[in-house]
Amino acid sequence: MNRKVSFLDGLTLVSNSDAHSPLKIGREANILNTKLSYSSIKKTIKKGDPESFIGTYEFYPEEGKYYIDGHRKCNISFWPEQTRKHDGKCPVCGKPLTIGVLYRVEELSDRPEGEKPEKVLPFFNIIPLTEILSNVLGIGSGSKKVMRNYITLIEKLGPEFKILHDKEKEEINSVGVPLLGEAILRMRQNKIVISPGYDGVFGKIKIFNHQERKKTT
Ligand SMILES: [Zn+2]
Repeated sequence: MNRKVSFLDGLTLVSNSDAHSPLKIGREANILNTKLSYSSIKKTIKKGDPESFIGTYEFYPEEGKYYIDGHRKCNISFWPEQTRKHDGKCPVCGKPLTIGVLYRVEELSDRPEGEKPEKVLPFFNIIPLTEILSNVLGIGSGSKKVMRNYITLIEKLGPEFKILHDKEKEEINSVGVPLLGEAILRMRQNKIVISPGYDGVFGKIKIFNHQERKKTT
């Protein structure tokens, strides 16, 4: 999304997570291959050299609460094109729609679809492990069952980042949550479906359909 606007060309984009609750700290991150000193890190960010700044871990922007446009109370969610067709008004109540970030990016965009600036550092999309578990088990991400499995996974396989990015499917499956290895593989390959967030409603991630998930029960 950022690379659609040329005035950000030449800037290194960093990614940092919210710090409002312990579970959410350090989930989005920058991947650096540099000495752990202030001056090295500063130099790496400033230069944005792919040898030392490997990339970033990012959540899917569609998961955010204001990605596309809409009215929560009227149960209306629109892609920017639909919003323009409706003149920015809600077809149910007639009031102006709450405009999301995608619409704004399209307004600012000065680059044709698919075109990128010369220098772009890679980014890797991630889904928090609790959300993947919630999806696999078909229950809320804050539920006891999700937390119990989350802790078991961390105890057996190590930090969340290792599980999300490095561990083999078989090793993940060995902990005993059916379909989890496949779910994480699908995330790594971007093979997931998201219904995007709008007007304060979080986007919803769908890794498996109902039939696939039934296998876990
Ligand atoms: Zn409305």
